[in-house]
Amino acid sequence: MSTVRLFFALWPSPPLAASLAGWAEQARLACGGRVMRTETLHLTLAFLGPVDAQLADTLACATPEHRLTPGEVALDHYGVFNRQRILWAGPGNTPAGLQAAHDGLWQWLAGFGLAAPPQPFRPHITLLRNIEHAQPPQGTPAPLSWRYDRMVLVASESLTGGSRYRVIAQSRPRDP
Ligand code: ATP
Ligand code: MG
Repeated sequence: MSTVRLFFALWPSPPLAASLAGWAEQARLACGGRVMRTETLHLTLAFLGPVDAQLADTLACATPEHRLTPGEVALDHYGVFNRQRILWAGPGNTPAGLQAAHDGLWQWLAGFGLAAPPQPFRPHITLLRNIEHAQPPQGTPAPLSWRYDRMVLVASESLTGGSRYRVIAQSRPRDP
């Protein structure tokens, strides 16, 4: 049986992604490394890893009905994952609504036989990879406010030199 590597994510609007690209450029001055492409920037809500192709289809069909409670997250913080040599942007503190979106998503996924990872949720948007200096910049650009109302399901394909993402489904926003 073939498998597909999947993750659920919040995907920024093009203007927000462009602002995040500015955050990436500023951080690169301090940390070096490789800037992620603007159109691939995202905040992972749940990384599923490889799942059977049949389950991937089932999840893609079910995703529109898993409606997120709309929320807002302030991106006001640079962080570093030292081991992975990643610099990221995210909220300094995880908002309760975003934590609830993560927890609710994993509860829903449990119904498909999938289990949440043991690590706590650390919301982040990867901006740089292969950083040369592990110290994040002292200051940040002006904080960004991200209002979200949906999530996307993404298939991630390994290619030489990185991964290619394909959005295969999205949750339907709640009626106003
Ligand atoms: P590559 O691994 O090829 O360098 P990538 O990390 O962008 O590329 P994936 O590994 O498919 O692609 O990961 C997709 C998303 O899920 C990324 O945002 C990644 O940071 C996140 N992710 C990957 N592995 C995990 C994990 N074990 N726990 C939490 N998030 C993860
Ligand atoms: Mg990866």
